[in-house]
Amino acid sequence: MTVKPPYDLLFEPVRIGPVTAPNRFFQVPHCNGFGHLRPRGLAAMRGMKAEGGWGVVCTEEVEIHPTSEISPAIEGRIWDDRDIPAHRLVTDAIHAHGALAGIELVHNGLHAPNRISRLPPMAPSAAPVDSSDPLQARAMDLTDIRNFRRWHREAALRAKAAGYDIVYAYAAHGMSTLMHFMQLRHNQRCDEYGGSLENRVRLTREVISEIKDAVGDSCAVAFRFAVDELLGEEGLSVEGETRDIVGLLAELPDLWDVNVSGWANDSATARFEPVEGYQESYTAFVKSMTSKPVVGVGRFTSPDAMVSQVRRGVLDLIGAARPSIADPFLPAKIRDDRIEAIRECIGCNICVSGDYLNVPIRCTQNPTMGEEWRRGWHPEKIAPKASDDRVLVVGGGPSGLECALQLGQRGYRVTLAEGSSALGGRSLLESRLPGLSSTARVKDYREGLLKTMAGVEIYLESPLDSDAILEFGFPHVFLATGSAWRRDGTGRENHRPLRGLERLPVFTPDDIMAGKLPAGGRVTVFDDDHYYLGGVIAEKLADTGCDVTLVTPALTVSAWTDFTLEQDKIITRLLEKNVELTVRRNIAEVLPGGLRLACTHTGRTENLEADALVLVTARDANDALYRSLSAEPDRLSVAGIRSLQRIGDCLAPGTIANAVYLGHLAAQNFQGEDWDAALFRREMTALA
Ligand code: ADP
Ligand code: SF4
Repeated sequence: MTVKPPYDLLFEPVRIGPVTAPNRFFQVPHCNGFGHLRPRGLAAMRGMKAEGGWGVVCTEEVEIHPTSEISPAIEGRIWDDRDIPAHRLVTDAIHAHGALAGIELVHNGLHAPNRISRLPPMAPSAAPVDSSDPLQARAMDLTDIRNFRRWHREAALRAKAAGYDIVYAYAAHGMSTLMHFMQLRHNQRCDEYGGSLENRVRLTREVISEIKDAVGDSCAVAFRFAVDELLGEEGLSVEGETRDIVGLLAELPDLWDVNVSGWANDSATARFEPVEGYQESYTAFVKSMTSKPVVGVGRFTSPDAMVSQVRRGVLDLIGAARPSIADPFLPAKIRDDRIEAIRECIGCNICVSGDYLNVPIRCTQNPTMGEEWRRGWHPEKIAPKASDDRVLVVGGGPSGLECALQLGQRGYRVTLAEGSSALGGRSLLESRLPGLSSTARVKDYREGLLKTMAGVEIYLESPLDSDAILEFGFPHVFLATGSAWRRDGTGRENHRPLRGLERLPVFTPDDIMAGKLPAGGRVTVFDDDHYYLGGVIAEKLADTGCDVTLVTPALTVSAWTDFTLEQDKIITRLLEKNVELTVRRNIAEVLPGGLRLACTHTGRTENLEADALVLVTARDANDALYRSLSAEPDRLSVAGIRSLQRIGDCLAPGTIANAVYLGHLAAQNFQGEDWDAALFRREMTALA
């Protein structure tokens, strides 16, 4: 099939050393929580990317030796030949669709506390490991360096035996020994591997050369390099040494994969890097210094932005981790002129949280991500309908939209009733808060497709009560009516309503999102939710001129955002906006003109002046409709309603990712196996 200009440019083959990528779509290495423990799930996920048109599909970081393991994080492993069969599953799944398979070999050095192997970590110079483990890395001597080079060589040979086409050396994210050798702050050596830049780059040069000698006849050798740590003079930077590093190694690798460091900068959330291509100002120089192809990332979801990168000579290959997670079929949709069907990444990093929490990857936009093998889900295909029954979905938030979309794709005739004047529910409301505009993509993608589906009818401004639902008599009803933030302060820390709430104006996130704001003055945001919303509301109120204090019983602000790589940035932003941060404090009582706070450890109290209080604590499911309908089974049966289900926040308030997932799960299971019987497949340790 011929691809329409200008996007045909993206489907040109690109020569990478001895191999050729079939197009310019390059899934760069990304972690996933499958790793060495769940190879079948991993292979199916990578295979899906290849099926969706990614010309190159890479692994996550793959540990080459037990002196480098970051368990309990579940990364890849290629310690010895016994790891090869699991990698074969991955390369076979990728090759089945004509894509190239890349492997990112890693030795984590200072970043690897080796909690499983219990071997001493290794680094250029002796120093504490970069986790909080009470442990130091030892300085590598020349024997260690020889071994390190040999481990890379042996891992590369195993990678070739496992079928990989591209083998990486890795010096990015501050997570690799090769990078630690380059960083002055980690390398205080006085031998030929320390001191001058040339000496600090020596090990990388040796490793790349030796991988090339070992496997370069048939495998391309890529070098992943962080060109800037965004630490100014403290770190590697474009202004400092990285131009010279690229100059020293320019023609050595077959491919340059360039980004910024650390991971929180590379995978910045949309809240902190809203613009597509946000790494360009750092990475753009690389192409001018090498004749080898260059791949880079920047949360690319728009084909025009991709074309522009290639046309302007910034990149040869369009790198993507998150855009390929949100839409494994992004290349195929561009190829097939279905750009409107692209499921655009919203930049929320729920995907990253899976890796941090050591569970299979999940995605807000793509509920099938991580479910390819264990549930057999496909991002673009779903089983056809099992009957001609009609379905009513009540509520057009993330869960109702996803459920209606999937039921519609199965061929059911679906009626979607939304009480307000617009679809989207919380994905629309939250998108109006500072930095969260891309959250609206959850709605945009689904609304766009639903509107093209002949079997789907959408009614706005249609708040339904139980009488209306009974009167309509749809045989199947899904209630996706969402949830409401509590106004009484109950949540994790407080199991009873706060005392004295009548003494101050009290607001909830629902008020703030509906435009009902405190009049100004001193506002306390009490965050007992610990995800992003408390911090975002504090930011918004600071922007409107309030004098804001954020109080939380947690040890730190927006604690769960550590798993989405945002926490440092959130704290910095709040401090920059003069938000006062008060941690480890609960509200003991609301007072006239303020709050009595209590230390969560000692119970000692102190007073805080406040003119208004915003409670970000917990939510109640909007399940009154469900309760009233399910209380009268006879009326349901007279009305012809045979099934009634809650989905999304109406069932259990959680993340948007969770609501989308529950909507998807309900649509997948509808008129199929009972969800209880249809639990997912598990990868179990063979005892034989
Ligand atoms: P979720 O994340 O589970 O999808 P949301 O709160 O985002 O939940 O969305 C729920 C949606 O349901 C909102 O758009 C809301 O206006 C709508 N809604 C709630 N109750 C009704 C009702 N009785 N009839 C129609 N729509 C409703
Ligand atoms: Fe993008 Fe969020 Fe999905 Fe990650 S979880 S791929 S950031 S939409």
